[in-house]
Amino acid sequence: MVLGHLPVGYIISKMLFRTINARQATYRTFMLWGLFGSIAPDTDMIYYYLFDYRQYSHHLYVTHFPLLWLFFLLLSFMWLLHTKRRQYPVYAIIFTLGGFVHILLDTIVGGSMLLLAPFDYRHFCLVPHVPWDATQYKFLSYGLEALVILWAILVWSGSSAPDAAEQS
Ligand SMILES: [Zn+2]
Repeated sequence: MVLGHLPVGYIISKMLFRTINARQATYRTFMLWGLFGSIAPDTDMIYYYLFDYRQYSHHLYVTHFPLLWLFFLLLSFMWLLHTKRRQYPVYAIIFTLGGFVHILLDTIVGGSMLLLAPFDYRHFCLVPHVPWDATQYKFLSYGLEALVILWAILVWSGSSAPDAAEQS
């Protein structure tokens, strides 16, 4: 997935913000961390294109290890449970959740992923290129991206204006 990560980050942030207490987070900061988390794993492309472009895929870097994101997500929840200042762990949760969902989406149509790394380095892919031909695979991949983008537009257009607590 290429273009769909940011819209998915938007959808998740939008949906989850309504479930948390407005005193625990401000809407803009929460959304910012959610959007950043949704694309954070792909920051490894800077290293990939500058130093390691012969590598098979940037999906094999540590930034695309789902267990890493899951670990930090659980850590964020533990932080939330053990602090009275809940703002920062709430931001950590939406950031790490965005990163984790990013990896799940990459697993669907992103080629090989190391889902069990660093414990097991076998490659996984939910929808492998075979038996699809290139056109079918692109149709599937771009179709999924288009669906996600459309969903985000629907959420955005259907959402009411944030109330005063959300805007602060
Ligand atoms: Zn990625």
